[in-house]
Amino acid sequence: MTAAASPATLAVRASLESDSQHGAVVPPLHLSSNYTFESFGVKRRYDYTRSGNPTRDALADAICSLEGGAGAAVTASGMAALTLLTHLLDPGDLLVAPHDCYGGTYRLFEHLAAKGHFRVSFVDQTDPAALQAAFARGPRMILVETPSNPLLRIVDIAAVSALARAHGTLLAVDNTFLSPILQQPIRLGADIVLHSTTKYLNGHSDVVGGAIVCATGDIADSLAWWANCLGITGAPFDSYLTLRGIRTLHARMRQHEESANRVAAFLNAHPVVSRVYYPGLADHPGHRIAKSQQSGFGGMVSVEISGGEGAVAAFVERLQHFSLAESLGGVESLVCHPATMTHAAVNRDALQQAGIGDNLIRLSIGLEDTDDLLQDLQQALDASSHAVTLKSVIAASC
Ligand SMILES: *Cc1c(COP(=O)(O)O)cnc(C)c1O
Repeated sequence: MTAAASPATLAVRASLESDSQHGAVVPPLHLSSNYTFESFGVKRRYDYTRSGNPTRDALADAICSLEGGAGAAVTASGMAALTLLTHLLDPGDLLVAPHDCYGGTYRLFEHLAAKGHFRVSFVDQTDPAALQAAFARGPRMILVETPSNPLLRIVDIAAVSALARAHGTLLAVDNTFLSPILQQPIRLGADIVLHSTTKYLNGHSDVVGGAIVCATGDIADSLAWWANCLGITGAPFDSYLTLRGIRTLHARMRQHEESANRVAAFLNAHPVVSRVYYPGLADHPGHRIAKSQQSGFGGMVSVEISGGEGAVAAFVERLQHFSLAESLGGVESLVCHPATMTHAAVNRDALQQAGIGDNLIRLSIGLEDTDDLLQDLQQALDASSHAVTLKSVIAASC
């Protein structure tokens, strides 16, 4: 594959025409768990699917080339990729993580640290003083999640990379929210990039999977060794579906983003919405950095609506084209209430510190017709403001 190809071309053409037996255009799915030895003591390229599989390797190559890495491992889930990442740490090593990271990531780090696998410090990485103080403690690794989930805070990857280099710290970036189409952290100085391929990379909400891409071959080799040792490599069928999903990634991201831009502008102008979190809005605190390090603002929009629990419930329940479900990045639009759903594993204090309130709602903008989505949001917000009015009438009459 030529290095000069653009992401759309890399994604569409990944491993096409690689079948030497029949000349299949699309690479075949290899489900076999084991492979024969060529003869006594002579191993072929593959022997056992936990250790290596052609279909999974095709997916790893595709993600690796999209991220501009030197090597990649495909894992059974995004959390498996994060588990793999923690195996670069020794007891006593300090890991700096975002204070508002994905709930499952927070839970994993908190509980492994409690068992003494490493030390962890959750830090507001948008605060330069907090970041400096964290680096002064000599961390072995820093994990950045930008845009963050669910508040879409932006961290300057190149600036963190400069600090990390100066302190001998490994920089890992969770790139799930944008995909390599909209952000390529290795080009901004990251050592490692992680994905929950469950989200945009597969994009069809029918696979749970993960991937980890490394800027250097030695870290990639070490992680591939651990992935096999721990038994957390991805399944061939899941890899096949994810590779199929990746072929349309470029076109999907473009449409997700176009609709998200319109949804964010619409919500920003609605009186029931007290706040919109979308990096594409000019008043978003991370707008300038997002514009420089991303090639698009993505398909996730979070909002706070006024009126308390009743208004939130009314809004969520009235939506017809948004399914009330966790996850994101699929073709279908989703609505999520982080405090009771994705971030339910995070304790109340940490939620409050991260700024995740009870009136926060996260939207994953899908590929439905944009006008249909806008109309749906309009009618649900109307229902929500009705719930607010009712509540104040009842309160006033008590
Ligand atoms: C979903 C998600 C994960 C976890 O991935 P799974 O595939 O659900 O295990 C990690 N990081 C981010 C940012 C996510 O959105």
